[in-house]
Amino acid sequence: MNCYLCGLQAQAQQSGEDQGTELVDCSDCGTYRISSSVLKMLASRTFNYPKMRDDLHRQRQFNATSVAEINTQTAIWA
Ligand SMILES: [Zn+2]
Repeated sequence: MNCYLCGLQAQAQQSGEDQGTELVDCSDCGTYRISSSVLKMLASRTFNYPKMRDDLHRQRQFNATSVAEINTQTAIWA
């Protein structure tokens, strides 16, 4: 698949413990979790890529033990 943020080649896996989310591993953006609601919204909207990346970075600094998450609350749209 391609990364939802940067569009480069990335690995995705269905997240087992939390259904409806996808875990994406991008060499450029790092690992992040994206919710199915946001995936549906992506059909008609696009991320504000620089701000979204900053926010993932902020989430990782805030809580290094959990995977940065893109859900309807954290998504930043263009
Ligand atoms: Zn990426």
